[in-house]
Amino acid sequence: VRRDIPPLEVDGVTVRFGAVTALSDVSFTVAPGSLHAVIGPNGAGKSTLFNVLSGVYRAAAGEVRFGDVRLDRMRPFRIAGVGVARTFQNLALSGRQSVADNLMIGRHHLTRTGFVSAGLRLPSATREYRRHAARVAEIAEFLDLGDQLHRPVEGLSYGDRKRVETARALCTEPKILLLDEPVAGMNADETRRMAQTIGDIRAALGISIVLVEHDMGMVMSLADRVTVLDFGRRIADGTPAEVQSDPDVIKAYLGA
Ligand code: ADP
Ligand code: MG
Repeated sequence: VRRDIPPLEVDGVTVRFGAVTALSDVSFTVAPGSLHAVIGPNGAGKSTLFNVLSGVYRAAAGEVRFGDVRLDRMRPFRIAGVGVARTFQNLALSGRQSVADNLMIGRHHLTRTGFVSAGLRLPSATREYRRHAARVAEIAEFLDLGDQLHRPVEGLSYGDRKRVETARALCTEPKILLLDEPVAGMNADETRRMAQTIGDIRAALGISIVLVEHDMGMVMSLADRVTVLDFGRRIADGTPAEVQSDPDVIKAYLGA
């Protein structure tokens, strides 16, 4: 386990949209270097939770702590700056730009000089740009996107575009990666590959991963721990085996 990775603590978080309580007093802890799944039926509050963790939504009550840092009062770009990276359930990529350019966007906050000065051909900036380009190529390779690096994103298959999203989040060199339904819309083969890749990321980089999934089957082989949400409430929290046999979870998924 990497020593620079603190626990993520979600503590009594409540989020309301007018009369709708999207999250109600939700608590759980993501242990350093672990793969923590958050699952639940549609509308359970999973994406809302990610939006709180990444600073897009404000909690009406509760706290989110990443080690000593309070995330729940921070702006999204500052949250990214302390090592929290997320993907979106719906693809948020720049289609006409190449895979490499989309990945480079993920590294912008890591640059000293900014990539504009690289365009001006200042020697130090060019060196820095090359270093980032090399890391981008490495991460693309890791995500099996090495052959696609210089193709426009809009020409890629749906499954590969989803992989670019994950690669871009990794390009920020996060301590914790938040994946919102990374296999949504993928076919069975793409799903298997992605599940494998998520396991590889965790093993190779030693970072924490929070995996939001609708499909319970996909997370069971991957997750160390699972938090189950239903109608904005935490209905179970435990190992995959524990939550799978939990009567409340079974009821929520059968819609009884
Ligand atoms: P999930 O990702 O688990 O499917 P969401 O977090 O998207 O669930 O939604 C949880 C609840 O919050 C739903 O009832 C949804 O309609 C509501 N909700 C989410 N975002 C908003 C918003 N921006 N404005 C109003 N209601 C919202
Ligand atoms: Mg969602």
